Amino acid sequence: MQHDDNLTAKLPNFVTHLECAMTGERHEADQIHNLSRAGKPLLVRYDLAGVKKALTKEKLAQRPPDLWRYRELLPVRDPANIVSLGETMTPIVSMPKLKAKLGGGANLVKDEGRLPTASFKARGLVMAVSMAKALGIKHMAMPTNGNAGAALAAYATHAGIKTTIFCPEDTPEVNVSEIALQGAAVYRVNGLIDDCGKIVGEGKAKVGWFDTSTLKEPYRIEGKKTMGLELAEQLGWQVPDVIFYPTGGGTGLIGMWKAFAELEEIGFIGSKRPRMVAVQAAGCAPMVKAFEDGTEHAPRWENAHTIASGIRVPQAVGDFLILRAVRESGGFAIAVEDSAISAALDEMAKEEGFLLCPEGAATYAAYKQSLADGRVKKTDQVVLFNCASGLKYPLPPIHRTLDRHKPIDYAAL
Ligand SMILES: *Cc1c(COP(=O)(O)O)cnc(C)c1O
Repeated sequence: MQHDDNLTAKLPNFVTHLECAMTGERHEADQIHNLSRAGKPLLVRYDLAGVKKALTKEKLAQRPPDLWRYRELLPVRDPANIVSLGETMTPIVSMPKLKAKLGGGANLVKDEGRLPTASFKARGLVMAVSMAKALGIKHMAMPTNGNAGAALAAYATHAGIKTTIFCPEDTPEVNVSEIALQGAAVYRVNGLIDDCGKIVGEGKAKVGWFDTSTLKEPYRIEGKKTMGLELAEQLGWQVPDVIFYPTGGGTGLIGMWKAFAELEEIGFIGSKRPRMVAVQAAGCAPMVKAFEDGTEHAPRWENAHTIASGIRVPQAVGDFLILRAVRESGGFAIAVEDSAISAALDEMAKEEGFLLCPEGAATYAAYKQSLADGRVKKTDQVVLFNCASGLKYPLPPIHRTLDRHKPIDYAAL
């Protein structure tokens, strides 16, 4: 990958410390961290006044179109530790037919399926693995619903770090295969992602694995944050009115919320924020329940099930951060049925030629539901997140055939 000159030198780095997201307690940078001493996620803090002096929009505009263009707001200090597989900026795709049909502003889909390993998990894991390399971590472990494990396997193998990965037994076949092919030891576990997480926790205690679980590691969120930085830059340093985000562990939603605050602090955007909408599946909707109950935390969702495997997360360690961002932004949390997810996926594919992943389809289904119940206006500019390539999921079999030895009725084809 090509970078401009000053990346070959030590990065001008602005990390000052890490901070407990619950208590605000300061933790030192440049050390191996998981959760804070209070058992909550850690957030990376920067000298934003310094970034403001060092970085201009014009300077940024000249850099290569990948997430390292935001390096002043990223934790990696030494470029030698960047473990890149080509983290390209992802396009915002317009859907004119749906816009005409719905009369709305939801013609924008940010297509994260273009990233390495074909999901936005690459954004988080490229940062986690680059930092692991910087900190000398040798063996990373993770519970995954599929895409995170694939991204961890790819980057860790690229960096020469060993990985052990656990996924629920019904994880999509392609995910288990890609994880194994990309050099990780992967195991199907008879349980859900939080059950897999317990195994990782025990392995950490017994044999010293590094726990790379969502938000139990401080740098994945910094990588996911680049979705917010990129979105604002692509919209001409504006934010949309509403963001629909398929929410599992919530790293992306929390990360984007952090990104907007940092961008305002360095003077790149104003005080307007998008309304953040956490989209979940009706069969696994702990954030929706907590949002509606008005609670700060979300208890575990029992018997979680949905075809959107990436958002089948019964309990999230960052629950209070998700709920905080949703509430502060004036957004909401919404659940959609699997039948609505399938219908939305089919509709987008047949009408716009765009194959969403089920989680992305959930955002489209939620958008339509929100238009119908009046929580979103037709005139709102809405961005939907398609977080992975639709090709990573089981597709319906097609049985139509043609016998080339019989007469063909071409006019009927
Ligand atoms: C992981 C994942 C999500 C959920 O992302 P979080 O930021 O962890 O909430 C949504 N969609 C897909 C395809 C995923 O892989």
